[in-house]
Amino acid sequence: MQETLANVTDLVAKRLDADVCSIYLIDTDPEILTLMATIGLDPAAVSRVQLRVGEGLVGLVAQQREPIALVHAREHEGFRYFPETGEERFESLLAAPLVMQNATIGVLVIQTVDPRAFEKSDVELMQTCAQLLAPVVVNAQLLALMSISETRRAEITSSLTSTTGRFPDANRSPSRTEQNVELRGIATSRGVAIGPVYRVDDPVDLDHVEYLPRESLAEEREDLLKALAETRSEIEEAREASGVRFGPEFAAVFHTQIQILEDKGFVDNIDEAINLKKNALLALRSVLDTYRETFERIEDEYFRERGADIIDIGHRIMENLLGVRSPVAPMQPGSVVVVDQVLAGLFARLEMDQVSAIVAEHGGSTSHGAIFARTLEIPAVTGASGIMNEARQGEVCIVDGATGRVYLQPDETLIDYYRGAQREHEVAIAHLDALCGRPAETLDGNSVTLSANVGLLNDLRQVDQHGAEGIGLFRTELLALAHRGFPSQEEQEQLYRQVVEQMAPRPVTIRTLDLGGDKGIPNVGMPGEENPQLGLRSIRLTLENRRAFRASAFGPTKLLFPMISNIEELREAKALLEQVQADFEKKGLEFDRDMPVGVMIEVPSTAISADIFAAECDFFSIGTNDLTQYTLAVDRGNERVAHLYDGLHPAVLSLIDLSVKAAARAGIPISVCGEMASNPLSVPILVGLGIGELSLVPAAVPFAKEIVRALDGREVAEDARRALKASSAQDVHKIAASRLLGAGLLDHPDIGAWLRNFVDEASGFP
Ligand code: PEP
Ligand code: MG
Repeated sequence: MQETLANVTDLVAKRLDADVCSIYLIDTDPEILTLMATIGLDPAAVSRVQLRVGEGLVGLVAQQREPIALVHAREHEGFRYFPETGEERFESLLAAPLVMQNATIGVLVIQTVDPRAFEKSDVELMQTCAQLLAPVVVNAQLLALMSISETRRAEITSSLTSTTGRFPDANRSPSRTEQNVELRGIATSRGVAIGPVYRVDDPVDLDHVEYLPRESLAEEREDLLKALAETRSEIEEAREASGVRFGPEFAAVFHTQIQILEDKGFVDNIDEAINLKKNALLALRSVLDTYRETFERIEDEYFRERGADIIDIGHRIMENLLGVRSPVAPMQPGSVVVVDQVLAGLFARLEMDQVSAIVAEHGGSTSHGAIFARTLEIPAVTGASGIMNEARQGEVCIVDGATGRVYLQPDETLIDYYRGAQREHEVAIAHLDALCGRPAETLDGNSVTLSANVGLLNDLRQVDQHGAEGIGLFRTELLALAHRGFPSQEEQEQLYRQVVEQMAPRPVTIRTLDLGGDKGIPNVGMPGEENPQLGLRSIRLTLENRRAFRASAFGPTKLLFPMISNIEELREAKALLEQVQADFEKKGLEFDRDMPVGVMIEVPSTAISADIFAAECDFFSIGTNDLTQYTLAVDRGNERVAHLYDGLHPAVLSLIDLSVKAAARAGIPISVCGEMASNPLSVPILVGLGIGELSLVPAAVPFAKEIVRALDGREVAEDARRALKASSAQDVHKIAASRLLGAGLLDHPDIGAWLRNFVDEASGFP
């Protein structure tokens, strides 16, 4: 550790042409910075000079996490003089914080004898050095740990992970005493949760951790076997938990991993490697590399993709071997997950049955992760800027998914208030669910089909509970995300068959694989793209990976092609379907020859040329999530432009109108399956435009039904006409809000209070 730091200070001093370079680190006390290495100051001061975070210039940099560059350091009000360092000779100072996984771990400082006005490039270089140095320091600390006894190692790792903020899930600011710290984000998934914070940070970079083996081979072997056993029981727990919560197909992600760990050959290979290398980490790495390379060489894509499991499992074993976890703490029941971004893969990674809510620093409300949260009825707030900085592992957090409010360390009064809100929400849902048999019909007798958007077998419970009339969108990519690769034909067949059989006689619309964009998974040949939302996603990706294109019918099933943007894609997709059907025919397998085939309208070109597509398909389903993003040029997952993302924009409505009219001319049905249908303000406008089916997250079905039942078909048709001519989305909001108000919905005993938020906001009330 000392050697590493000495090398670094020497290097930085030379690189930046400075007389002094010092490194201050936070050790076991998160409030104290200690001078750990220096070139240029008195070496005797090392380990002796200590200052509090916030104290002196160095403390200030640690506190503010911003670099500081001063020509005359002494003139700064924060300057503090440490006589033991002999630093009085130095005039100028440039310091940058060492930050790792969002936590300050120290400060890198240079000083010069002659006054020097540091240039922007100096500051940038210093920051780069600090960035590079931070993991080196952490690794050096880990390395130092490995050379001490196991008990001491465990003591230190647990104290490091729980108190110092140096590891991912650490307590970031233990000195915070204030209560009811409020953060605002985007209201992404309704519901209230109160529970302990569970931070999900990026894992420590284990590939670059150096490792000192123990003295005897027997001890090394013992350590490694223990790590293997620990890993296995962790994975088994995760498999069980996700199987219960999501259904067996989701648990499949863990099968391969357990198989690897149980494989005698794998254990024997490790044993052999450890004899040879006398180092558990090197032995593990070499075995994993061989396995991974072997898998990658296999022709069959499905097996090749299992390489990802090897990498993942290797990571888990290494973490156990090194005694560092990311995150360390087991998840407590009812946890509020705090994460940088809700990526779809998160749902495969976490023990979701323990999660009561999700709060994300970034992201908007229609990213795929956000949609999954809504489908699973997990309250969520996204774009909660500052949450990664503020939230401490284990502290109590309130999440209000309907308003986008998040409170850290709430007091009893606030907790009581939100417990009340939680009860009210649950009572309203229970009440509406009890009435779920009533038809979704307008006052003048027009019926609107309300179906559900789902992606997992277990979602079907929600479909029944909330009274959806069928599945308007089955997102098949969840299975692929759980597998982190294309699932096999058999697995797909099994899942779709169960869904269709369970739903029968209600119809199921199965969408072909819609990966890419923000639904990235490794190993399906998706190259890094500069603009993934405009890249090889959805039907484009599927047509390039034809073996992923499978569909079968076991009941009233419709097939839906996502992201069709030109007629050739539709023709190509249909030709593939015909090939599969001809194959079935040859094999004598049963299938529905008249299975309706639909096109998703989610690209403006398709809406504009809707007549052309209507002539060659059996139904339309409008994906307003993407249609809005592509029409308004607003990334659906970027919270910084979320205020510009609005499905009620008149331009988006015009495209919906074009599609509705084309569908009517061709005599084919049309539905909306984007998230916009869950927004109460959209319901009168979409019904008014002539949409006959809304497909929503299951929990939104009863709410939409109450709205539909209060509307008059002629009135909303007039609203829609006005909305198409409106000059802004805001004006459309006002039209819709006054309809909800005029329909008396604000007095509704179950949904009135909730609707008031939307109406007030549309009318410009705070
Ligand atoms: C849409 O784009 O509106 C849609 C329903 O598809 P997804 O959200 O899965 O992209
Ligand atoms: Mg889409």
